[in-house]
Amino acid sequence: MPEFIREDKRNKNRELDQQAALESRAQKFLEYPKDPELLGLLEKIDFNLLGNIFREVGRSCGINGDKINFLNPERIAHISINAGTLAELASELNIIAVDPREFKKYMEERGLPIDLALLAIVVHEEAHAVSRRVCEEFGSGKEVRVGYEHSMRPDEMRMAELLGGKAKTVFEVFNEGVTEKFAEEVFLEYIRRSSYININDAEVFLKNYRQNASNNLSLAKALVDTLIQRIGRETEINQKLVWQSLVRGLFEAESFIDEELRVLFAEMFSPDFLRRLSRLPQDKKEMKRMEGEIKGKSIRALITYLSRKSRWNRK
Ligand SMILES: [Zn+2]
Repeated sequence: MPEFIREDKRNKNRELDQQAALESRAQKFLEYPKDPELLGLLEKIDFNLLGNIFREVGRSCGINGDKINFLNPERIAHISINAGTLAELASELNIIAVDPREFKKYMEERGLPIDLALLAIVVHEEAHAVSRRVCEEFGSGKEVRVGYEHSMRPDEMRMAELLGGKAKTVFEVFNEGVTEKFAEEVFLEYIRRSSYININDAEVFLKNYRQNASNNLSLAKALVDTLIQRIGRETEINQKLVWQSLVRGLFEAESFIDEELRVLFAEMFSPDFLRRLSRLPQDKKEMKRMEGEIKGKSIRALITYLSRKSRWNRK
């Protein structure tokens, strides 16, 4: 057997071993005893319908909807993986983890109905799940990208340094903003089709939920809204198409790690704009400041860049 084929086979075997190891870790979390109340609430969610909505949105953005990584309730663990987190997509393990006690306590303290709050959380985490991409192997593991959020591979560290020193993960807040906006659309569409509750009540709930439970998510979403409005206003492209191209970028795990884009942002806004956007802390003041910059400065060059990258003129 030629050497390169043997090498290839070895790599393949190592990859399978890694996958098996991750899956057995995932199973440990999934086997954790189920919380009866959380289980009851999850059983009320129609995952078939929800999956179909995600697939349809994918298709409308030009993605092969059948191939998306939508997780069924069997992939929801009733335990937190990172202490203090109510719910998260554990991207490497490809499971959603919800901490039943923390979740109920948090929502009850804020007077939010736990059935709708759980639906909103599940939709948000599923939006992360469908935008998850497993990229090529490096070192001892694999790179997992979730939407615009990007964890660095060693060969990208030079760009990482340009962007923000030794950051391992970038564009987390931007990714959260796009994800939350996307999740809200899916949430409302689910309500419309399931006739679970009346749509006006659902909108009232979302407003309360935004104010009480996800303040930083709302700010991240506002930043994304401002960007869409600016691009829409300065071009003939309507805002819906701009938005669809951002959703497409989410599904395709679009990379913003790009020298050309960095220079562009530097010319348009400030020398370190992309670095700040990539490293944006969950900090209200800084988010507002960036939103102001997006509103105030000329963004024509960015539009040219994004229209080429996102190909919104394709459809
Ligand atoms: Zn999130």
